[in-house]
Amino acid sequence: MSSIHTVLVFALLSAASFTPVCLLEFCQNTDSDCHSQDKTASDAVRSRWNMTVSELIQDLGRFSLSCKKLIEAFPVDEVDGNFVCTVKNCIFSRSIPTPLKGPLRLAAVSKDVIEGILNLDMAVTQSDEFLHYASGGRLLPGSVPLAHRYGGHQFGYWAGQLGDGRAHSLGQYTNRKGEAWELQLKGSGKTPYSRSGDGRAVIRSSVREFLCSEAMHFLGVPTSRAASLIVSDEPVMRDQFYDGNVKTERGAVVLRLAKSWFRIGSVEILAQSGEVDLLRKLLNFVIEEHFSSIKSDDPDKYLVFYSTVVNETAHLIAQWTSVGFAHGVCNTDNFSLLSITIDYGPFGFMEAYNPDFVPNTSDDEGRYSIGAQANVGLFNLEKLLAALSPVLSNKQQKEAKIILKGYSDIYQMRIHQLFKAKLGLLGEEEDDGYLIAFLLKMMEDTQSDFTMTFRQLGEVSAQQLHNNNFTQMWALEDLSSHQLFSDWLSMYLLRLSRQPNDSDLDRRDRMKNVNPRYVLRNWMADSAIRRAETNDFSEVERLLHILSSPFVTQETAEEAGYAARPPLWAKRLKVSCSS
Ligand code: AMP
Ligand code: MG
Repeated sequence: MSSIHTVLVFALLSAASFTPVCLLEFCQNTDSDCHSQDKTASDAVRSRWNMTVSELIQDLGRFSLSCKKLIEAFPVDEVDGNFVCTVKNCIFSRSIPTPLKGPLRLAAVSKDVIEGILNLDMAVTQSDEFLHYASGGRLLPGSVPLAHRYGGHQFGYWAGQLGDGRAHSLGQYTNRKGEAWELQLKGSGKTPYSRSGDGRAVIRSSVREFLCSEAMHFLGVPTSRAASLIVSDEPVMRDQFYDGNVKTERGAVVLRLAKSWFRIGSVEILAQSGEVDLLRKLLNFVIEEHFSSIKSDDPDKYLVFYSTVVNETAHLIAQWTSVGFAHGVCNTDNFSLLSITIDYGPFGFMEAYNPDFVPNTSDDEGRYSIGAQANVGLFNLEKLLAALSPVLSNKQQKEAKIILKGYSDIYQMRIHQLFKAKLGLLGEEEDDGYLIAFLLKMMEDTQSDFTMTFRQLGEVSAQQLHNNNFTQMWALEDLSSHQLFSDWLSMYLLRLSRQPNDSDLDRRDRMKNVNPRYVLRNWMADSAIRRAETNDFSEVERLLHILSSPFVTQETAEEAGYAARPPLWAKRLKVSCSS
């Protein structure tokens, strides 16, 4: 049983209480709001935003952004031109996007973001104007483009100044629900933070970021969002696998959104440079804008802030694990202070269950394997604490260390809840952790597909389970080849039989609402990318549509094989940091 206990460490177990849970608002996957594209356009918009389509903005000239808040709150580096330099005593630098070489093409657009967040009529995205606004060629009314100065620990080491080397924040849009969203272009040219980079992003990485941001949202995982993806004919040179084989690719820009783009690295750079007044200013701003339950005159406000970030980071990483998502580059500059998923790069959804799954082929040591993510979260939170130290008293620093000690318990408590839900378990029984760990160990031994094993357990009836009838259930067929499968199954069925007021139908419904049938597997993204590179965006569109309802069985997805055993060629796919 010792190997089962290894799995326990990876995934699960013991419940422990901690500071109050303060989850960010995000789309719960059981909420029908997540699946609005199944309705007609007008129905969806009316029911979600209490507006009719005719009330959506139809003229981009009437869509305006505000940069006032950020510019008034912080000193902005005014150096003109996008010259790479070391920047001090500021949070942002003014930087104008560099227009992409045309012709420009709208490769994809998220209706959910365009209508639901930006209150724009989808028709405006079809205009030439939109192509320019959403790729950096023209500035939206009110926009003052800024590049953010941040630093970060990369692969364990302090990397100094990083910053938005190829992203421009355009300004804030406050939508009709009163939510303020920061719009950002990625791939929009050089900034003072570009170091040796060209400021561009290529089509393949941009398709992945666009699709995965939206897919994660619909999976119910807190994330930045993507409004549009525009591709150009601008040549961009990349050595995709760092093997000397440089190829010409094409530039693309994603228009992405988040309530805030501040990261752990935003705080770190100020602490590392001894800019304590600015550090305090940044923290006060973040707390005031995004942590409404923290009072500005609370003498412990930075400590409470820290405690919230610790809590929510644990929750976020537990959610990643529960959908088999590995971020790939969990550096502190890629960890949001709002604990949302940001900066999609060489991420991957685990297929065959393996705690050592590493999506990024450049990560030789497996530092950011899926099973290591929770520990890396701890490392990043340690770095955040170090950066906060200048504004914490000795007593508060001691308390912060105690808070951090609670991180693994929060993670384990959350992961335990999530996996229990994945198995349809109600209530709490002593052996629940063992039941889950036992299953994961069998999945590891049989290399069963993570997504489809849980999904099929939720689709199969208790009777079928009892009879070992898994016809056309490929993941369960794999799992059931394990010599201990019948032992586990008896334990599981017994556990289910002890759930009062539960029916097998209810169990299956619950499980289908938390176990997706479709995730963005590398091979699916790769196939869509290859077409997008020939200006055929139909597969990107199809994936966006299907991944917007990942819990609902869809005919087009079944025909495309998105819930089938991955094709053999998928095994050869590699994803690197190159983007
Ligand atoms: P990432 O790994 O994409 O999160 O990027 C890490 C850092 O490298 C950030 O500061 C990015 O802005 C910067 N960076 C990545 N690619 C480029 C590029 N092509 N040009 C300029 N800066 C880049
Ligand atoms: Mg990054």
